[in-house]
Amino acid sequence: MKNLKPISYPETVFEGKASVLQPDDVKVDDTSGTVTARFGDYETLVRYDWKNSEVWGKCTCERYADLEPCEHIVTAFLNFAKHIPRSAVRDVGQAPDWFGEKKLKKEIEEKAKEAEKKLAENLKEKRRQEEQKKKAINAFEQAKARSEELKLIIKADELDEELAIKEYVEGTEPLVYRIQWKDKKGEKRERLVLSIRGWTQAMLYQGNIEIADVRFEEVGGKSIAKAIVRDTARNVTQIGIAERYTNDEFKWTTLASKAIRNALKKVISPAFEQRVIQEALEANLVIDLSLRELREVSEP
Ligand SMILES: [Zn+2]
Repeated sequence: MKNLKPISYPETVFEGKASVLQPDDVKVDDTSGTVTARFGDYETLVRYDWKNSEVWGKCTCERYADLEPCEHIVTAFLNFAKHIPRSAVRDVGQAPDWFGEKKLKKEIEEKAKEAEKKLAENLKEKRRQEEQKKKAINAFEQAKARSEELKLIIKADELDEELAIKEYVEGTEPLVYRIQWKDKKGEKRERLVLSIRGWTQAMLYQGNIEIADVRFEEVGGKSIAKAIVRDTARNVTQIGIAERYTNDEFKWTTLASKAIRNALKKVISPAFEQRVIQEALEANLVIDLSLRELREVSEP
């Protein structure tokens, strides 16, 4: 009997069942809610846990299984255990562990806890995966947005070429590009950047800036320009490099102008940059650049 595995049955399992047996001997322990019954050679142990609506049972006939109690367990429960006055039964927690059921319950609880822990870990791992996926997508989207912005900056650079080689009536040169693009959230973004004329204007406002030298060099079979610009007030020297040009006829003008512009960007203080932007907005010396316009421009 000791080595038999107790099984807990939901009380509903006994619904509609009838007991047809008469035990040869019955012992009822009111305080623990336990019934010990003998049916010929078989011995049956049953405990009614009415608080949890379950019936614990085991029987030496060994014909009981999950959800299928043997006829001995059915009889011991229906005829005896079920009728133990509830007031007499001590708290389940205090009752002796007749069936080893407490141990079993503990095992089940531990298993459940383990399963829960595993589930939580799986969930955590899944969340981590999702996060990394999201991060990768974000990085991609950001790169995409940046590339749109970059296209516009390159376009502005090309327009700078035109500005650099074109003669303008004074006071009509575009000073600022308004670059507009959509970010990864699809929200409109805007940036105001000085044109090459704008940088020249800022240089004039700041004063004390001297273009010390422009040199052309061949690097890897490519022509580049190197401009050296000096801020004589702060005694700062900066170098600007340019290598991009589109119009071969004006190659050197373009390279020199861009190299100077790139060096100016490094020595001009933001205050003068802002002053030119303000002036350009007020006098409407702004060129709008958006991807839509860029597509129209680049169509043959
Ligand atoms: Zn049995």
